Amino acid sequence: MAVISPNAPTAELQALDAAHHLHPFTHGAGLRDKGARVITRAEGVWLTDSEGERILDAMAGLWCVNVGYGRKELAAAAARQMEELPYYNTFFQTTHVPAIQLAAKLAELAPGDLNHVFFASSGSEANDTNIRLVRTYWAEKGEPQRDVIIGRWNGYHGSSVGSGSLGGMKGMHAQGGMPIPGIHHIDQPDWWSEGGDMSPEDFGLARARALEAAIERIGPDRVGAFIAEPVQGAGGVIVAPETYWPEVQRIVDKYGILLIADEVICGFGRTGNWFGSQTLGVSPHIMTVAKGLSSGYQPIGGSIVNDEVAAVISGTEFNHGYTYSGHPVACAVALENLRILEEEGVVDRVREETGPYLKARFEELADHPLVGEAKIVGMMGSIALTPDKATRAPFAADAGTAGYICRERCFANNLVMRHVGDRMIVSPPLVISKEEIDTLIERARRSLDEAHAQLT
Ligand code: PLP
Repeated sequence: MAVISPNAPTAELQALDAAHHLHPFTHGAGLRDKGARVITRAEGVWLTDSEGERILDAMAGLWCVNVGYGRKELAAAAARQMEELPYYNTFFQTTHVPAIQLAAKLAELAPGDLNHVFFASSGSEANDTNIRLVRTYWAEKGEPQRDVIIGRWNGYHGSSVGSGSLGGMKGMHAQGGMPIPGIHHIDQPDWWSEGGDMSPEDFGLARARALEAAIERIGPDRVGAFIAEPVQGAGGVIVAPETYWPEVQRIVDKYGILLIADEVICGFGRTGNWFGSQTLGVSPHIMTVAKGLSSGYQPIGGSIVNDEVAAVISGTEFNHGYTYSGHPVACAVALENLRILEEEGVVDRVREETGPYLKARFEELADHPLVGEAKIVGMMGSIALTPDKATRAPFAADAGTAGYICRERCFANNLVMRHVGDRMIVSPPLVISKEEIDTLIERARRSLDEAHAQLT
């Protein structure tokens, strides 16, 4: 079998990549003109590319490598499981030890009576599962007309047609056929961009009450669930004003609808607790998990549901499942990842030590002339770029240009930060040290200076 050598010159790897590889969320012109950066190795928070450059990964891959790169225990767990039982399914009344162990461990870690897991291989699949869970739940309870799920504009719940419909990314909906029927959206609690003259507190209440208004408009007997990320991630790390979540909880309780907390990013320590719901004090009936569940070492996700939802779903045959639901290798790796997070006190360190340190250093960036607000919860944060801090004005030129320039400067300075429009985001591995946080901030500031020079 002829394959290109991993040590081939970068330009050859890039040319072959551009010729045959269609990339997610990537414009083909960039691949053809400049080529993709070829990442070859990683250790801790550091990536190495095919030119031997060491890059600080302040995004933990795609918000997922919570324990950092290069953990040999995870490789060993995968190898052990592959030798023992590389694959078996969990359909038709069969199970296996890794799925049993992981489900029980998640039941222990998840708050309250969230004690039951339906496995998937990704966050998108898990949110597709949630649509089926919600509709099956209400049908079994004798209210099949409660098939409407409310999500939020600029929320992100995945890229499949179902999960993309739950999300409110207009660019994805514009591809056609989305949202699927029965999915509605309300506005997001983004005070910086949309709060106008309101105080953050009033704005938070107003955006929560948009949920109540939507329920009343659609019909309280039609709405089955509300889905939201505790802290919006892909939408730009939008931290809702403090008034928002208590009011959402009141409304969800009042109308008796299911609350789905999409914990795909927030879960497994990112906000300083095991789950974002705990940080924000909300009580979901269903949680979506993925990413940090295995620190990205294996593709695995799931829906964790409470006792009541599980009891109702178990009263029928749930006509749903994926070939890789509860994949034994993925479960074994996830279990080992949870052991590392727990035994090494990673979540506690984020809450008590490195999270507060990152917050203090990150918020210093707010004094930069290009930066409006700097918001951070645990280890997920964003800065809003603006030409005018006082009015919170957007850039007059194409939205996203400033963010793009800044992202490119970061990349040139060997720092991976992501931009969403004109917001710059960090979400580093949870094991990042204080020294590495200093390097992150120093490189971010240098990149901001360079972007500022380019923009003025
Ligand atoms: N939900 C949230 C909150 C996410 O951020 C993502 C991915 O970024 C997803 C769901 C989709 O997960 P996946 O890409 O594993 O399908």
